[in-house]
Amino acid sequence: MRDATRIIRSTLSPVKPGEPLHAGPVFAAPFHAPGDPANIPYTYARAHNPTWTQLEKTIGQMEGGRALVFSSGMAAIMAVFGTVLRPGDVAVLPSNAYYTARLLLQEYFTKMGITMRTAPTADGQQATLLPGARLLWLETPSNPGMEICDIADLCAKAHQAGALVAVDNTTPTPLGQLPLALGADFSVASDTKAMTGHSDLLLGHVAVKDLELYAQLDQWRTLTGAVVGPMEAWLAGRSISTLPLRLERACGNAQQVAEFLASQPEVRAVYYPGLKSHPGHDLAARQMRYFGPVVSFELKDKSAADTFLSAAKLVTEATSFGGIATTAERRARWGGDAISDGFIRMSVGCEAIEDLLEDLTQALQAAR
Ligand code: PLP
Repeated sequence: MRDATRIIRSTLSPVKPGEPLHAGPVFAAPFHAPGDPANIPYTYARAHNPTWTQLEKTIGQMEGGRALVFSSGMAAIMAVFGTVLRPGDVAVLPSNAYYTARLLLQEYFTKMGITMRTAPTADGQQATLLPGARLLWLETPSNPGMEICDIADLCAKAHQAGALVAVDNTTPTPLGQLPLALGADFSVASDTKAMTGHSDLLLGHVAVKDLELYAQLDQWRTLTGAVVGPMEAWLAGRSISTLPLRLERACGNAQQVAEFLASQPEVRAVYYPGLKSHPGHDLAARQMRYFGPVVSFELKDKSAADTFLSAAKLVTEATSFGGIATTAERRARWGGDAISDGFIRMSVGCEAIEDLLEDLTQALQAAR
């Protein structure tokens, strides 16, 4: 079965005459639980909930492993850091990984005796930092710079060095890239982004193949209470059913937007792995099925970027990415990333491409 069929079929409830095709959210804190709890599938909603079970079935099948959902992408990232890292351990991160993940390690874990080593994503530079490491963290394409690294090669090197590997797969989603199949131990994502795609909820997940790692993550979630509410889990399941449609459209649009921007004199650089001129293009074409909805580019300076953003009528100024509506922001407004003041991260949505290109043309003219 192909992705779209598998995902849609996995969201259907078992055939029971008179029951809905898709089960509704189960709102519960305690469940009826008489007698021995070991024989009861659901007892208390910090540990399990049937609406998560349904969603985890869908995500696990997409990832080629077993999935656990968390209250946000950061809660999922924290679950991996928290279950893997112990005092004295070394974690190797991309220096251009999602800023908040780096900050979490920097602000909390390094103060508890964990050493953090960083190197850029491009050209697999993290490989040089692996001796003695416990965890290698990858993010490809990196965010917002869109650098690419070779997941399979780095996994082999990390495993040889005795390290586990986690990939933040938020930007491509498991339909765009399959970290577990490429050798990673953890596929981690913020499902707040393209996975759910409607800009209406926070969600994260971790997928693994190893049952021992699964049990540790499951325990972490129950002990920390980093759980997702049933309404969000249900909305997420509903949204993921249309991921194949949304991703195909948004990534097709992103490719055309990237090619258009690359042809414009006002644009100093475009960072999109789908462009043949991107240094990671060949590698990305081998390990990704979609190049993702995020296109980053640089205008002359802060003023040009601000003018562009206010002139563009079909580009909503907002952070985050992966939604059905095209959004963009001048990324340097947040700090934390080594980027220029004119750097824009755009998340291309599912609108009609002709409208988007017309709007981008007039916005770039305004920013001249
Ligand atoms: N990973 C990446 C690549 C992200 O862009 C984000 C959020 O922007 C996260 C993780 C964190 O996800 P959340 O905001 O759902 O906690």
